[in-house]
Amino acid sequence: MNYKTHMNGGILGSIYLTSQMSNIELLPVSIFIGGSILGSLLPDIDHKSSYIGKKAKPVSRVINKLAGHRQLFHSPLLYLILYLVATYNIKDTYKLTFINGLFLGIGSHLVLDSLTVGGIPWFYPLSKKKISLGKIKTNSQLEFTFCGILIFVNIVILLDLLRITSIFTFTQH
Ligand SMILES: [Zn+2]
Repeated sequence: MNYKTHMNGGILGSIYLTSQMSNIELLPVSIFIGGSILGSLLPDIDHKSSYIGKKAKPVSRVINKLAGHRQLFHSPLLYLILYLVATYNIKDTYKLTFINGLFLGIGSHLVLDSLTVGGIPWFYPLSKKKISLGKIKTNSQLEFTFCGILIFVNIVILLDLLRITSIFTFTQH
């Protein structure tokens, strides 16, 4: 998946959860959504020609050499452990909001990559076998269509958040 699809996947997760909250405040919501966007791009740091890899080329190159592409940095177990360690140690509400957004974005990245032909190693490092749940090829027409749907749903949820429509927030009224 390209970075636009990943970004919209991360935004979808965070704005959908936001739309289901009863108390919406601008600052924590911005931190949450910002975290989810960063997280949605982060795992591809293991590939130097990815969007985030190009932004941090030296770091990306080292990670790619050490860890390879779609291996350790696309490992759900790694992120689960990091998430537990982070939430155990961080007590500040805003930092926790950021961490929650960040890992939500990372989760969305892993789910979306699972829908590609290549898949991801869901049980790495226990098994290196990549599991694919879909047939989307990166930058294919199918991905562009899929990305278009994500953008459309995001706009609809955004309209809900702005109280212009109430499609996804109907459960609260
Ligand atoms: Zn990826």
